[in-house]
Amino acid sequence: MLKARQIVRKYGNLSVLKGIDLEINKGELVTIVGASGAGKSTLLHILGTLDRPDAGQVFINDTDVFALKEKDLAAFRNHTIGFVFQFHHLLPEFTALENVCMPAFIDTKSDETEVKKRAGELLEMLGLKDRLGNLPSQLSGGEQQRVAVARALINNPAIIFADEPSGNLDSRNAEDLHQLFFRLRNDLGQTFVIVTHNEHLANLADRKLEMIDGGLAHP
Ligand code: ADP
Ligand code: ADP
Repeated sequence: MLKARQIVRKYGNLSVLKGIDLEINKGELVTIVGASGAGKSTLLHILGTLDRPDAGQVFINDTDVFALKEKDLAAFRNHTIGFVFQFHHLLPEFTALENVCMPAFIDTKSDETEVKKRAGELLEMLGLKDRLGNLPSQLSGGEQQRVAVARALINNPAIIFADEPSGNLDSRNAEDLHQLFFRLRNDLGQTFVIVTHNEHLANLADRKLEMIDGGLAHP
């Protein structure tokens, strides 16, 4: 489903990624761990096509993503990739339901009734049936992150990338969020790549990758 070949990223003289090779299979939940500054976020952003490498290739479902023109890459990203960040980045003036719908309306072909129905179903599946009309400020931190997960799922992405998704939650809400990821993996076959400092999540993963100084440690 995802293949990375010899990914190199430099900032000036600093080599942040030193030739990363990686394959991720459909339905795998992979975690990336490692010290601060090891290059985890940089790698995640490149795999998620938010940043371009200086060298190397990323294939997602056999598409050579960085060979796409910027406009085509943006469309590909919106339809194929979901993101969850440490901070939810929900739009404060829109309801939970509206926030979840947002990525589907970037594509003007989407049918509004269909999208709202699917968003409602996703929020219900994530235990937020009674929160559809609430603004982000009216939700708890755990609920806000679940809305962000529903938003990541709205376009039925092939893969979800998460950067410290539970980094801002207390341990109970973090645990609930991790359980949710495993449920989506089991029930939907959803593929996840998650950068985390949470050891419990890292150890439960199908695969734990460790980054050391711009490279992947061999398991
Ligand atoms: P991690 O996520 O493992 O903490 P990062 O990928 O954020 O690591 O950063 C890896 C290294 O790249 C760090 O030394 C960081 O300071 C550097 N870095 C990240 N982004 C930039 C940038 N935009 N400009 C310059 N250096 C950067
Ligand atoms: P994260 O918590 O995801 O690792 P950071 O706090 O390391 O993020 O970085 C936040 C932002 O600052 C990112 O966009 C990153 O690219 C940028 N950045 C990180 N390190 C540097 C650096 N040394 N010089 C310039 N920009 C940097």
